[in-house]
Amino acid sequence: MSVFDPASADAPSAADLYRCVHCGLCLQSCPTYLATGLETESPRGRIHLVTALLEGRIEPTDNVFRHLDLCLACRGCETACPSGVPYGRIIETARASLRPVRRQGIGSRLLDWLIFTELLPHPGRLRALAAGLRAYQRSGLRALVQTSGLLDRLSPRLAQAERALPDIPPRFFEPRRAVFPALGERRGRVALLRGCVMPLLYGDTHAATLRVLARNGIETVVPPEQRCCGALNVHAGERAVARALARRNVDAFLAAGVEAVVVNAAGCGSTVKEYGELLRDDPAYAERAARVAAMTRDITEYLAEIGLRPGLGPLRRRVTLQESCHLVHAQRVKAAPRALLAAIPGLELVDMAHPDLCCGSAGLYSVFQPEMSLRLLDDKMADIAATGADTIVTANPGCMLQLAFGARRAGLRTRVAHVVDLLDEAYRLAERPNGRT
Ligand code: SF4
Ligand code: SF4
Repeated sequence: MSVFDPASADAPSAADLYRCVHCGLCLQSCPTYLATGLETESPRGRIHLVTALLEGRIEPTDNVFRHLDLCLACRGCETACPSGVPYGRIIETARASLRPVRRQGIGSRLLDWLIFTELLPHPGRLRALAAGLRAYQRSGLRALVQTSGLLDRLSPRLAQAERALPDIPPRFFEPRRAVFPALGERRGRVALLRGCVMPLLYGDTHAATLRVLARNGIETVVPPEQRCCGALNVHAGERAVARALARRNVDAFLAAGVEAVVVNAAGCGSTVKEYGELLRDDPAYAERAARVAAMTRDITEYLAEIGLRPGLGPLRRRVTLQESCHLVHAQRVKAAPRALLAAIPGLELVDMAHPDLCCGSAGLYSVFQPEMSLRLLDDKMADIAATGADTIVTANPGCMLQLAFGARRAGLRTRVAHVVDLLDEAYRLAERPNGRT
């Protein structure tokens, strides 16, 4: 008997699974297959497992969960697949419908509940956590914890997460107003998704986004009623809280009276673009969610679409681009970040060998699968080091965190920035009287 309920909207569908013709053309795009050489750690292998679960030929044993858990949900296999297998939907729905039958220890269940139900949906609690971590980092306790090795003995997983944590900035992104006017003639009005991690760790990138949009004639609204987009919940298969968050964001964005929702975090953007699918069985929200999804744009996609205004100063940098998985594979936005970088005078873009291969961040993957995450990160840093770049640019906070950690680990003095950070820097540079960096 199948473990999946065919009547459930959250179950993997036979139509999706049977599209796979087992050709194997996706294997070389799969980071976990490349790292292990194992069929069970490949997209084709995982599709086999989910199909066998659907057909009731196997049970969801711990081994099955291990193979599904090791998947980054990076969707590199999706862009490689000539048959159009929607792998992202398969893995997300498989995880969602297997959650209730999963046997987990009390510790894992508690952690799960804390992260997905009690923390991520609540911006005040996240802010308090970030403020507490900032105090911890500044108190000298961090140095003590790291040199004593105490945390490594207690929980190696927690110790790695602690090491990967960047310095929490002195200020969070907490705008006192909701509307940021355009400079010069107004060309449009958009809403910015604030997100959960971005305002706490990358508030400067939010500020840069607002400035770049204003310089390009765009008025931006940051609706205060919005919440976390629910991406991390969706990726983990936790869809009930994700739906509640999506409904709240749909209301906030539609009330803002904007023509686009702009997102500067690729993982969040791909989730908002899929709100229509997430809420398709909700009669009150299906149409409204599809509308918000259709008007959502990654910041790079939006700027490339409207065309940059002139006025970018020269940035003499050697830059390499890490193509965030949820931008290039999930949203299929590949050309826009490159076009924007090419518009900055003096900037040299040097491609690494595999810019579209996951860096091992993948939401909370680096916390739950630390060994594979580090393995992929070390490979990524070697690829980056070979370019001789002084700056790594990307388009997602998870990638920024992971790559900054990778640079520290590898002893590289490479800066990590968002594409929009460099655009902002170039605009501001041109405004300085002597045009110097
Ligand atoms: S997912 Fe696509 S590329 Fe991979 S084996 Fe199936 S059909 Fe082939
Ligand atoms: S989503 Fe990424 S890790 Fe998972 S099977 Fe596809 S390519 Fe491999």
